[in-house]
Amino acid sequence: MSASTNIKFWGVRGSTPCANIENMHFGGNTTCVQISIPGQDEMLVIDCGTGLRNLGNAIEEENGNLNGSIYITHPHWDHLQGFPFFKPLYCKGNEFNVYIPPQGDAGCKDILQGHMSNTFFPVSIDMLEAKMDCTTFEKGMMHFDAYDVEYMWANHTIDTAIFKFHIGGKAIIFAPDNELPVAKSDYAVSFLKEFRSFIHGADVLIHDAQFNMEQYEQRVGWGHSAWEVIVDIAREEKVSHLYLTHHDPDSTDKYLNNLEATIRERFEIYFDQIALAREGQEIILSYDS
Ligand SMILES: [Zn+2]
Ligand SMILES: [Zn+2]
Repeated sequence: MSASTNIKFWGVRGSTPCANIENMHFGGNTTCVQISIPGQDEMLVIDCGTGLRNLGNAIEEENGNLNGSIYITHPHWDHLQGFPFFKPLYCKGNEFNVYIPPQGDAGCKDILQGHMSNTFFPVSIDMLEAKMDCTTFEKGMMHFDAYDVEYMWANHTIDTAIFKFHIGGKAIIFAPDNELPVAKSDYAVSFLKEFRSFIHGADVLIHDAQFNMEQYEQRVGWGHSAWEVIVDIAREEKVSHLYLTHHDPDSTDKYLNNLEATIRERFEIYFDQIALAREGQEIILSYDS
């Protein structure tokens, strides 16, 4: 019997939301992705950028028995700002598990508490009505009924996860903030070796492509990649579906449309799908159950 996992982009923008008319086709909300697994009521969310607000609004109000797991790659604003605006958190009876990799000595609850501290936001984490379990996700594999999840460390400005979800025999990898280094330092060589092995043969790879090579050369060390580099590596590592994301807030729809056309023309033959992630877009991944 065949089944399908759905992946939906609720936010694809990097760094900061950009509510400009010239960004509306690809979308102005920051990173948030939802994964729906067949036969599972549990809602799976990765990253809590401003796109999370729309996801919350799309859920039926009367729910009150929503059960979800939220994975956060790292606590930069563009991956966390939607959290306090996610309405299901204000609904008694809902239950969420939140997972964040450690940030030095700070764990999951410290990070969320800091983000919602009085100086920055009027509602504290203790005032949320939903039941919340905060887990500091140490490296290793976590096993659940419907999926397994693990991560490797990204090359970014703070400790940041690249998540890999194993669902129905498929590997879905999410790396919105990851700098693929071009210079050949010892670190770069060992990082790229680990990265290549982690993504090898992935069914879906959603990866940072905030810059082109010309922009990247001006921004080495900022923690983001040039699209040219990830397309080459993904092709060599036989990734099936590649989605480029974390679009720069200054990248207009015109620029991104042209870029997508160029990428498709040159690289489509190497992938089952290669595209720029767009807000509202869904990926349907079919497999035998
Ligand atoms: Zn980011
Ligand atoms: Zn970041």
